[in-house]
Amino acid sequence: MQWLRRLFGQAEEAPFLLLHARCARCGAVVQTRINLYNDLSVEYDDREELAGYWIRKELMDDRCFRLMTAELRFDRRRRLMSQEVIGGQIITAEEYAAARKQTNG
Ligand SMILES: [Zn+2]
Repeated sequence: MQWLRRLFGQAEEAPFLLLHARCARCGAVVQTRINLYNDLSVEYDDREELAGYWIRKELMDDRCFRLMTAELRFDRRRRLMSQEVIGGQIITAEEYAAARKQTNG
């Protein structure tokens, strides 16, 4: 796997994307980690060429336990193109941290 290491840098530093969301019903915040190399599904265009990547992931907060569905799309180089959370709202890492701090006193 030496070539992989050369391609992606250090193998133990897999590129992760952290997604933060706030539940639309109760306002609780959740965080999920997406592995850009293991978790994404490939998307092909009409000519069956690589068009990009996508992921649909279910999130659940620990307050009302309602499921939220996150959908993210990436281009061919795994750069984030669009993201949305059904049943919730995407927030920043700072907003997430602030909300956790409040909850935990
Ligand atoms: Zn909730």
